[in-house]
Amino acid sequence: MPSGGPIGVMGGSFDPIHVGHLLAASEVADRLELSAVIFVPAGQPWQKSRRELAAAEDRYAMTVIATAGDPRFSVSRLEIDRPGPSYTIDTLHMLAETLASSTLYFITGADALAGIETWYRYEEIVELAHLVGVSRPGHALPNDQPVAASATFVDIPGLAVSATDIRERIAAHRSIRYLVPTAVESYIYKHELYREAE
Ligand code: NAP
Repeated sequence: MPSGGPIGVMGGSFDPIHVGHLLAASEVADRLELSAVIFVPAGQPWQKSRRELAAAEDRYAMTVIATAGDPRFSVSRLEIDRPGPSYTIDTLHMLAETLASSTLYFITGADALAGIETWYRYEEIVELAHLVGVSRPGHALPNDQPVAASATFVDIPGLAVSATDIRERIAAHRSIRYLVPTAVESYIYKHELYREAE
């Protein structure tokens, strides 16, 4: 675990992780001068009723493979190993305890962040971490929402790539080359992930 200096906590389903996520983490780390970014794949997301996610262990493995080459990046099993719904507040408490001397920046999609007031113990989240919302080009940043006051929003051109598009391409037997790291592409095919249309 990294310690000392400001640290990014990159939360998301990562279903699958793609080059947009990696570019976003790298950009935010550069702009906010973070010493490290910990990716935290969500174990059992609480507001995900619409579709089944890939197995947590597969999403975790793909995240490890994708981040292995960058010394700033690491991956946490905190949410994968914790039973019950993955609440961000629990994750931040555990990380704050382990990384006592570090300032935490919780990084996720700006659209995910827009609903943060509905998250479990939201007030405590904003006390434990600075919020960073990353957005795709053409997506308006939610400047008019109350969360905007306590969050930093960053536009990431590479986030034009989306996990939804990648899953749809696989189900339609279209290429995902260059949208995910090559080793993640191989993992997806080897484990026959995302073959069914949603
Ligand atoms: P998601 O479905 O994975 O993503 C929602 C949107 O944000 C998608 O457009 C997604 O792009 C993008 N996104 C997600 N994570 C990103 C990241 N780290 N960097 C860049 N873009 C990202 O979102 P989610 O899993 O629901 O929630 C995101 C995070 O918020 C998770 O860590 C989750 O645990 C936390 N959360 C916590 C609570 C709570 O504690 N009650 C409630 C809601 C969310 P792609 O589809 O391309 O990935």
